[in-house]
Amino acid sequence: MNNMLSFVRKLVPSSSANKLHFIKLTCNRFYSNIVNDIEENSTYHPPSYVKLPPLTGVRKKQIFDYFLILDFEATCDAPKNVVPQEIIEFPVLKVNATTFETESTFHSYVRPVMNPELTSFCTRLTGITQEMVDKQPDFEDVYEDFQYWMHNENILKDGIKFSFITCGDWDLKYIFPIQCKGLRIHVPDYMKRWINIKYSFETLSSTYPKNMALMMKYSQLELEGQLHSGIDDCKNLARLVKNLADRGMLFELNAGGRC
Ligand SMILES: [Mg+2]
Repeated sequence: MNNMLSFVRKLVPSSSANKLHFIKLTCNRFYSNIVNDIEENSTYHPPSYVKLPPLTGVRKKQIFDYFLILDFEATCDAPKNVVPQEIIEFPVLKVNATTFETESTFHSYVRPVMNPELTSFCTRLTGITQEMVDKQPDFEDVYEDFQYWMHNENILKDGIKFSFITCGDWDLKYIFPIQCKGLRIHVPDYMKRWINIKYSFETLSSTYPKNMALMMKYSQLELEGQLHSGIDDCKNLARLVKNLADRGMLFELNAGGRC
C-alpha cells in the first residue's frame, strides 16, 4: 500500500490533504480491480445452465414498498486502473415492490474532477464519451439532486420501506463511500445496507453467479442496451428483479452492515 501511495503521489502532483485521503481510500479498490482482472482471465468456466424455480408469476409479499435499483459507472482504465476512480454515471430506478414496474428514474452523468479526461477504454466499456460528462455537474451537485429526487418521490417518508438493489457490492461498498469520504459527504444509513442481487440469485438457485449477463442468461432474459452503461444495466436489473420475483423470490437485505 505504501509503495502504491508513493507511486500515486508521483502521478498526482497536488498534495492537498483531501486528495491524498481520497487516493489512499481508492488504493484498496485498485487492488480489488487487479484481483478481478486476474479472475476474468482465469480458467473459471461458469455452468451453462442453472436450475431456477419455475416462472409461475405467483409473487411473495415483499418486505419493502420500493426497490431502488442502482448501478454506478466510474472512470477506469486497463491494464492499470485510474486512481482515484470517480463516479461518472448515477442512475437509479424506483421500482414498485408489488407491481415491479419502474415508477420513476433518476439519471445523471457526472463530471469527474480528479481525472477529468476519460480514457478510450472507459468510453469503449461504458459508452460514455467525454462530451457526455464535460458539461455535467460534479458529484456533489448530482448527489444533492439525487437527494431532492428521493424527497420528491416520497421515498424518505415515514412508514415507507425501501432498499437499494445492486449487482455486486462495488457500488455501495466501494465507489460510493470512497467518493463521499473524499468529499466529506455523509453516507446515510439507508445506503449502508443493500440487496446484492447476486446473493439473492444464489439463495434461489444455490449457484453464485459471476455477473449480470450470466444471471440474465440463466433466467432466459435477453440483455438489452449496452452492458456497462449504468442506465441500461439498471433497466436489465429491473427486468431480472421482476423475473426472480415471478419465480417466488423474497428480496431481503443481504449486503453491507451486519447481515
Ligand atoms: Mg454497470
